[in-house]
Amino acid sequence: MSHSNKILLVDNSPFFLNILNEAISAKSGFEADIVTASSRQEALACLNDQSEWLVVVSGYELPDARGGEFIQDTLAYNLPVIVLTSALTESEREKALSLNIVDYFPKDTNCFADVATLINQLRDNHEHKILIVDDSPAFSTFAKRLLLSQNYQVLGCDSAEKAMDIIRQDSSITLTLIDYILPDMDGSQLIPRLRKFRDANSLPVIAISAFNEKNIAARMIKAGASDFLLKPVDHEELLLRIRNSLKLQDQFQQAERARDDALKANQAKSQFLARISHELRTPLNAIMGFSQLLSGDENLESDQLECLSEIEHASSHLLHLINEVLDLSHIESGKVQIALGVVKVLDVIQEAGRMLAGQAESHQVRLILPESEDGDSDKLMTDSYRLKQILINLISNGVKYNVPDGRLEVQLRKTEEFFIFVVKDTGQGIAADQLDTLFEPFTRAHSDRGRVEGNGLGLSISKRLAEMLGGSLSVESTLGEGSQFFLTLPRELSDHLQISGQV
Ligand code: ADP
Repeated sequence: MSHSNKILLVDNSPFFLNILNEAISAKSGFEADIVTASSRQEALACLNDQSEWLVVVSGYELPDARGGEFIQDTLAYNLPVIVLTSALTESEREKALSLNIVDYFPKDTNCFADVATLINQLRDNHEHKILIVDDSPAFSTFAKRLLLSQNYQVLGCDSAEKAMDIIRQDSSITLTLIDYILPDMDGSQLIPRLRKFRDANSLPVIAISAFNEKNIAARMIKAGASDFLLKPVDHEELLLRIRNSLKLQDQFQQAERARDDALKANQAKSQFLARISHELRTPLNAIMGFSQLLSGDENLESDQLECLSEIEHASSHLLHLINEVLDLSHIESGKVQIALGVVKVLDVIQEAGRMLAGQAESHQVRLILPESEDGDSDKLMTDSYRLKQILINLISNGVKYNVPDGRLEVQLRKTEEFFIFVVKDTGQGIAADQLDTLFEPFTRAHSDRGRVEGNGLGLSISKRLAEMLGGSLSVESTLGEGSQFFLTLPRELSDHLQISGQV
């Protein structure tokens, strides 16, 4: 397998060779070592000099090879060959393809970029290992020769059992061609077995069949094949399908890497925030402690006391912000554990309501809560601490953003699958264009900034917690009338939650 960077360009026009040389050097993603030759004789001398070649790019006709003889010569060297031609008749095309060339391009201004791209591809191809699973020597030999000419690494085997062994042992195989009829089982049985240890994104399978049975393509694809081809397989089509499958695989892997990088960056950010918030809390506690101590001093003037009360107010706001940032960063870095248990949710609603009764009173908002019940009808497997945290946030918002003499009502609705907690207020409501971003961190309605104290984190924390509990949080609102927040929790927890939770 060639890992060489050496490229042989063969054409009788020095002008054409020059432009081609420049185009390849400029576009190749590696340090190309380009050698040029102007005739069959010169080119053969180069090929005979024992070096390893990445690819040969040659005109079909040369002064001493008018009928494509040089292309024929290259067969003996087992090298990828790209052919350039002014015009290729259909029979010449057939002949060129039968000589196992990589591809052919008309000699025009577009060909320079195409050739450069293809050379880059050939360099990348040797990263790919293709397994051919077929007991027909004719197809295996044809495919093997074809793929080797494209610089792919190629392995072959003639039974399903052998294919499974090879794929199990060699994780570097990137694509498989599987014949429908194999001696020990058919392709539609083999592919699902392979899928148990290699999924379609890590190992595309192109199924191939000599029999055009009814629905065969659909059956193979349903069994887990990525693509399907009928024999006799067209040389060009096979290569293009392989290229496409590998391109998709590559794009998928790139997207996965980008996602992993983004996830890592996000985790680093969350860890940084967590550390900073933690460090901020210590001096802040000192400020709060000393200002409380000072406010007990009977000798202080009233304006000094006012200043102290400002300090206390601002510090407790800051502490609240730091705690919420810490909470959010813990959630985002996956540090929050869900502690599952059987919870009487009406009791939790009552507890949250009791904690906010004072706030409701000072805002002149009437709090209406469902009564606790005896029996099991309100029992749910969830995390009571996190449930209470969400409810406190929703009720506190419903009070904060309400109007004097307004109402805040919490209802519990039960369906076969869910418990739905509805927190309904008669406040100012939220404009439709702000609903979409409401659950993103630090989002606040314009009208609330500076008017109502807050930091725009509570809802994003609540939504993430709801999702961690296997549920969701959503909102409906009408400006001037009020808002309803819906916390929906499932009665049946998914396996994932049951495993991660501490029941
Ligand atoms: P905070 O209340 O600290 O600003 P939240 O994340 O809890 O943060 O809420 C984000 C924003 O959503 C609030 O600033 C407010 O503009 C809007 N909001 C939340 N709940 C309500 C509600 N019940 N009625 C009207 N607006 C609300």
